[in-house]
Amino acid sequence: MDTANGEIPSVLVVDDEEGIREGSERILKRMGCRVLTASNGELGTDMISREPVGLVLLDLKMPGMDGMEVLQWIRDHHPQILVIVITGFATVETAIEAMKQGAYDFISKPFEPDQLRIVVARALEKLRLTREAEKLAWERAMTLADLGREKSRTRTIIESLPNGVVVTNAEGQVVLTNPAFLAELNHPPERPAGGMIHEYVTDEGFCKLVMDISQGCHIDFEDIQPYEFSISENRYLMAHAKPVLGERNECLGAVVNLTNVTTWKVLERLKSEFVAQVTHELRSPLATIHEQLALVLKDVMEQAPQKDRHLISRAQEKTRGLISTIGDLLDLSRIESGNVGKEMKPVRIETLLNAIVDFLGTRAQTKGQTLTLETPPDRLPELTADPKALESIFGNLIANAINYTPEGGRIEVRVEATGSGIRVSVKDSGFGIEAKYLDKIFESFYRVKTEKTRFITGTGLGLPIVKGLLDSLGGKIFVESEPNQGSTFTVLLPLKQTACEPVTV
Ligand code: ADP
Repeated sequence: MDTANGEIPSVLVVDDEEGIREGSERILKRMGCRVLTASNGELGTDMISREPVGLVLLDLKMPGMDGMEVLQWIRDHHPQILVIVITGFATVETAIEAMKQGAYDFISKPFEPDQLRIVVARALEKLRLTREAEKLAWERAMTLADLGREKSRTRTIIESLPNGVVVTNAEGQVVLTNPAFLAELNHPPERPAGGMIHEYVTDEGFCKLVMDISQGCHIDFEDIQPYEFSISENRYLMAHAKPVLGERNECLGAVVNLTNVTTWKVLERLKSEFVAQVTHELRSPLATIHEQLALVLKDVMEQAPQKDRHLISRAQEKTRGLISTIGDLLDLSRIESGNVGKEMKPVRIETLLNAIVDFLGTRAQTKGQTLTLETPPDRLPELTADPKALESIFGNLIANAINYTPEGGRIEVRVEATGSGIRVSVKDSGFGIEAKYLDKIFESFYRVKTEKTRFITGTGLGLPIVKGLLDSLGGKIFVESEPNQGSTFTVLLPLKQTACEPVTV
């Protein structure tokens, strides 16, 4: 009997009296039952073996295999079948005995149709309830099995990921790791979860990031910066971390994906070394060509026809552009190798900015622009920093403001103290930048070309240099801009800057 699929089982009447068999069949069919009949015990058991029977009406007194034997056989082979014994007046005691042997109910002969209906209806109801309970249990078992399967599937996938995965709870305790994570951090593959994150990773910055995220400090920030760290010389990992949020947006912990970026770093270094070498080799001959051309062309220019003069000055402009690209590339290489920003000195930022504004003021004047520096009435705290790095940062930002602002525009440089450092903003009333380009302008060689800016020469390396220097100094840069209204580049500097680390720009 398959109770799980809800099929209604048949009722079998086993009785040697034909009248009882036929009468019962009629009544049961009217009750909507599928009915089978058998005239003796052997035929009855045979039928049960072949058909899905749920209920048996069983005469106790039959020639051959009697009712008690059939009952016993049913209990042994099909214990789920309900048996109602049919007894004569004289055998009530046998009926009681049959009940003890596991019959569900009994009915005495002769019986009225209603009596049979009541007993059978009760048994069918019992069958229905049993079937429902079995169905529920079956469904529950299936759900649990599915869940188990799903869980182990997810687990298998996490285990097979080539990237390291570690998950912590809200206390910063490790609750899940995968083999790639353990391997990357030189732990044995069988090392269990359970300890605090710093027991698995020694890098302080990494542990602080994971603890902050685990404790919910980053729930409102979409953008948690990837964190790069090295676990030994020549082995670098990049961590992308995110909070694990619950249904009510509460922080349950952190999940971190670790990628081994050693090969990428090596390639980057090779690329930088190559660029540095090539640019270095190119710089001197190019500068010589430029200077010698300038000398020769000084005389030639005066006699040359107008169209040739135009060509010659274009050529000169291009060599100047190349020299400036080479200079910027060399600066970038120096930043990448950590050879810039090492000479830490006390710096008065007002004095440094004043010198830059003075120097670039002439360029602004030729474009009819006003370039001003606003400093607070009180003396600003002194910075400990590399002045060359700061000159490069603010020189680039102010030069850009002049370049990308039309004639007659305004450039305002403002410096003020914040709680823990200095804020410098460079605001212009220039061409501005569309929002979609704001992230891109910090990438090497990226230049936004619009109708208004396409004729302005540049290398696309100024902002990557600025960003690279700030990254290595522990500073930050933000940009706000509105096309045709102007841009504001804001720099935040910590009071005490660390000596520059090599960074990837
Ligand atoms: P470059 O100025 O040599 O092109 P940068 O890296 O300094 O390279 O700047 C990248 C791009 O960002 C520029 O080409 C320009 O499109 C845009 N940009 C930078 N500063 C400004 C600014 N103050 N106003 C408008 N656009 C700017």
